[in-house]
Amino acid sequence: MKLDKNSLIPILCVATGRCCIHNLVILSPFDIFRMGKFLEKTAKQLFEEKIITYRINQTSFWMEPMIYSNEEEVCPFLEAKQIEGKDKFLCKIYEARPIVCRIYPLKYDKEENSFLRFFPAEDRCKECIDFDNFQSTENFLNSGSVPSLLEDYKKFDDLLKLILNQKFDLNGIKNNKEKQKKFFEIQKILYETYPNNEENFSEYPFEKVKLEILAKIY
Ligand code: SF4
Ligand code: SF4
Repeated sequence: MKLDKNSLIPILCVATGRCCIHNLVILSPFDIFRMGKFLEKTAKQLFEEKIITYRINQTSFWMEPMIYSNEEEVCPFLEAKQIEGKDKFLCKIYEARPIVCRIYPLKYDKEENSFLRFFPAEDRCKECIDFDNFQSTENFLNSGSVPSLLEDYKKFDDLLKLILNQKFDLNGIKNNKEKQKKFFEIQKILYETYPNNEENFSEYPFEKVKLEILAKIY
């Protein structure tokens, strides 16, 4: 079900933390940047210290960075707290939490640039579906500052499309180890280069990274 900004959704998070267990938290470069800034670590450190890892998407050959979870698949940023005598499970990096966490239990449809109710997510945690508490999709997204962060996400997505459409056809990558190596190399620039050092903890220098990547391709 596609949601417009006035669509009412019955969501009220009661901090069970269930969405932070057995879930892959896939990250964009901007998510990594914000997380690094919050934790005062460079992107490279986040990977080296195994706070973040990659998986390789076997269809698109994209390296997909994600939060590294333990064997029980619990997000390392989840923390239990007693609030007013009740067990609550909170996010240690709440201000810098990735976009997929902000929109949960909705799902973003990149192609349509719209949001959907994500029924498997709703099923996982029935406590956050509250039919006495409807709110508009716009309010819900605004409360997580999603609209402005989505602008970053779109820039990133456009760059991925540009890289794939211009130079790296999938068959070429699948059948050629050298091309695979180069493809992974340029992706590492995107995810690991910034910030290099503490002085760079300001705005994510997207245009600079983009130019660096395009120069590597051509
Ligand atoms: S599963 Fe739902 S209620 Fe539980 S923490 Fe996540 S959003 Fe909140
Ligand atoms: S980053 Fe925070 S909100 Fe996202 S899965 Fe981890 S603990 Fe949950």
